[in-house]
Amino acid sequence: MKDYLIKATVPGVRAFCTVTTESVAEAVKRHDCYPIAAAALGRTMTASLLLAANLKTDECITVRISGNGPLGEVVADAGANGIVRGAVRNPHVDLPLNNGKLDVGGAIGIGLVSVTRFTGMKQPFTGSSHLVTGEIAEDITNYLACSEQTPSSVGLGVLVNPDLTISAAGGFFIQALPECEEEVLAKVEANLATLPPVSQMIQEGITPEEMAERIFAGLPVIIYDPMNVEFGCQCSKERIENVLISLGAEELASLVEEGKAEVCCKFCCEKYQFNKEELIELQKAVTNN
Ligand code: ZN
Repeated sequence: MKDYLIKATVPGVRAFCTVTTESVAEAVKRHDCYPIAAAALGRTMTASLLLAANLKTDECITVRISGNGPLGEVVADAGANGIVRGAVRNPHVDLPLNNGKLDVGGAIGIGLVSVTRFTGMKQPFTGSSHLVTGEIAEDITNYLACSEQTPSSVGLGVLVNPDLTISAAGGFFIQALPECEEEVLAKVEANLATLPPVSQMIQEGITPEEMAERIFAGLPVIIYDPMNVEFGCQCSKERIENVLISLGAEELASLVEEGKAEVCCKFCCEKYQFNKEELIELQKAVTNN
């Protein structure tokens, strides 16, 4: 099944549900993540997609999980078009299991979750709140309650195989609208209480539509058209050239001296090579500025 995301509504409540197994697998492979990093990165990527689904077509969002634990910062970007990418500072962190589960909270540590919205027109807007557990879903739910005063519930799951491939990833984001009636909210809460973990549902083959039907069981649910979700990065040789130019004359001179440079995109790990002639051209661009 290809990754996709759907929106579903019942009177007064909306939900976004997604399966992100392939997109997360692609990111985990590119970053060579060990299981804890894979889970943290996959959950953060899925959260950014779910939050971005609420935006207008050309808008995008960055979710940054900045804790003091060994993983370092985990960051993901997603657009309202379903394109997602992400990175984790230390992909090779390994910690003992905590109650039989990957210790994502322990690997993230104490810190902040911040969410930046890029609307194209205005300045980007960033909101942040303290991490609650470092398990990411709770942190995002708390962020939405504190920073955006939106009562919501976020569920995220990533299942990592022993060979480090990804067998399931996805999540949901439920938002109560101001006009929501108590009865509807109580029904959704009761449904959530009996919902199996997201990673388990996806591994069993549940679709985003079926996930929404379970969340809204017993209510008149409307499901909207699906949107494709995939891993993608906006990097290009031109963008990397601008990064090199921004290093300044001194740094470029030493790269010219070395005769070549290799720059790796931090989001997709694509490697860009520059030979001496190209570096000299970039040097000229700096002097002309
Ligand atoms: Zn890239």
